[in-house]
Amino acid sequence: MSNLQLLNYMRCLIMAMRRGIHLSAVVSVAFFLASAAQAQTVALTFDDGPKIAETPLMSPQQRNQALLDTLARHGVKAALFVTAGNGANQPQGYALAQAWGLAGHAIGNHTMTHPSLHSASMSLANYEQEMLDCDQIIKSLPGYQKWFRYTYLREGNTPEKRDGMRAFLKQHAYRNAYVSLDTSDWRFDAKLIDVLRHDPEADLSAIKRVYLAHIRQRALAYRALSQQLQGRDIPQVMLLHHNLINALWLDDVLRQFEDMGWHFVTPAAAFADPVYQLAPDSPAHGQSLLLSMALSLGLGKFDGWNRLVDDGDADMAQLSAEGR
Ligand SMILES: [Zn+2]
Repeated sequence: MSNLQLLNYMRCLIMAMRRGIHLSAVVSVAFFLASAAQAQTVALTFDDGPKIAETPLMSPQQRNQALLDTLARHGVKAALFVTAGNGANQPQGYALAQAWGLAGHAIGNHTMTHPSLHSASMSLANYEQEMLDCDQIIKSLPGYQKWFRYTYLREGNTPEKRDGMRAFLKQHAYRNAYVSLDTSDWRFDAKLIDVLRHDPEADLSAIKRVYLAHIRQRALAYRALSQQLQGRDIPQVMLLHHNLINALWLDDVLRQFEDMGWHFVTPAAAFADPVYQLAPDSPAHGQSLLLSMALSLGLGKFDGWNRLVDDGDADMAQLSAEGR
């Protein structure tokens, strides 16, 4: 073998090795994609923020930072749905919202003062103005999206309001930022604050345990409902709030999803799924898109329905039974 032949042989060997390494990398990426495709995904959304009202244990800045730190630690990009009157209409609150955008999270619209379109006293025109007023404030924020999250997940108490608001959103190039995985975190948050106001040193372990069980139960139930209605796992969009309970325990919530084998996706990725283009004829007032679909299909009160719409009553009863 001449020196030239040896050199060519060595080159071929190196190329083959490189290709071998390359092929094994391709195989592992394909395997990863295949397993990712099978995994249930969830996007995180936080409503009513940023809140600058005082709570026990943490300042508004600490709560905001705790949420952002936890999301960063888990590599999650979420969405903050701003209710501007809760703080973003003031410099202090605006800075908190800005921190979300700067950290790569999406910013959506959740009205100025959080009225309900379902209320007979709330006109369509006033509700539209609520959306525009919030838009004025959030449109300069990094991460701004034309995503509207209905307050109380209610699209209106009359067909005129429902269709009027749907048309108004379309006219402003906004989308309905649906929720598929509804939780009653707000109920647990109220309980937590009440307990802490009575006793700042209170043992919070029962509330934490029941809260985590609640999130898990809702996640599994909405996954099952998606399979029943769509014949597949949709990317779930979960509703949480910008509140104390998540500032304290979001890390545990996220770890629980990771332990369940769920993967986190961005809200934008989830909303790209065609299911979020649907506009059910019969919105289930205050409930998830999946429940609206079930209602529109005339499914009625299916097995497990009551645990999805009880606003956490069963969990609160459990806490009372445990002396909390
Ligand atoms: Zn809200």
